[in-house]
Amino acid sequence: MIKFLDLHKINERYRSELDEAVKRVIDSGRYLLGAENERFCNNFAAYCGSKYCVGTANGLDALRLIIMGYGFGNGDEIIVPANTYIATILAITQCGCVPVLVEPDIRTYNIDPSLIEEKITSKTKAVMTVHLYGQTADISAIRKITDKYGLKLIEDAAQAHGALHKGAKAGNLGDAAGFSFYPGKNLGCLGDGGAVTTNDPDLAKKVKAIGNYGSRKKYENIYPGINSRLDEIQAAMLDVKLKYLEKDNERRIEAAAYYKENIRNDKITLPFESKEGRHVYHIFAVLSSERDRLQKYLADKGIETLIHYPVPPHKQECYKGAIAGEFPISCKIHESILSIPISPVIEKNEQDKIIEAVNGF
Ligand SMILES: *Cc1c(COP(=O)(O)O)cnc(C)c1O
Repeated sequence: MIKFLDLHKINERYRSELDEAVKRVIDSGRYLLGAENERFCNNFAAYCGSKYCVGTANGLDALRLIIMGYGFGNGDEIIVPANTYIATILAITQCGCVPVLVEPDIRTYNIDPSLIEEKITSKTKAVMTVHLYGQTADISAIRKITDKYGLKLIEDAAQAHGALHKGAKAGNLGDAAGFSFYPGKNLGCLGDGGAVTTNDPDLAKKVKAIGNYGSRKKYENIYPGINSRLDEIQAAMLDVKLKYLEKDNERRIEAAAYYKENIRNDKITLPFESKEGRHVYHIFAVLSSERDRLQKYLADKGIETLIHYPVPPHKQECYKGAIAGEFPISCKIHESILSIPISPVIEKNEQDKIIEAVNGF
């Protein structure tokens, strides 16, 4: 069987360094907000090209902390792509804000900038764009709109560690960015983790305080904060894996190029790559009008695939009746998208097997 993602194989490559990192933390006796967190955050900020990085407990919290840090809530509106992963929308509603959904571009799966302006009202505070599947959104076009209306541009960069737009990295393309280090992400913990990157010193300070009970000094609470910190063990392991992120991304890009050269099937649409950036292929998503039959056909041949995502957020049980509007492009993507295996450890013979199977569909 070819697994969709082999996390053990991914982490085993760095086994001795990871063991060493965990041991160092255990020996240190410091498990939260210590040297490991600080070192990793400095290194990750430098990697993204941003001035500040604050560790968080996960990606959802990173997005929530940005919204709280800006003080948005009470019905403030945040524009967001309709076909994102549920976490982007949850971050908005959990802060008391209203998600205003905008359809994606069917080619890139990212928010369609030409549809944003008509959704702006006097309550709009920000555009939270998502770099879905590892390709950055059309930031230049979005920035023009956010600048024109004085809105914040927030990146959900959870799937885009190392992705580029016109030479600049995800995490440094807007006013603030939220990252997830969920194990399956391009840079993943062995557990949960996340981070906020920004060039805004006030926001960085606020996010750090709000994520630590709203406090800068122990037992002095200036904000009604939450508990969301990146722990020392995860930070130490992330710092090991960060050194290899560029190489891992290159291997993903190579694997994607190999699929693109060799998959030939009229029933399947391959991912589109914008010339303005670098797609880091967190996910290799293809479209097929016979998606369900394709998934079954591949499963029968021992190839595991996943659907990102089977149900669009506005149709989820938790938002029943809460999100108005029709989103036909999003629905079409959700009905026809299929993710085939890609990772830094996928073997050429596995890819050959997948290509042969897909071409024979
Ligand atoms: C993974 C992900 C998140 C949430 O990250 P967690 O660490 O799981 O909380 C948010 N947005 C997108 C687009 C994601 O893929």
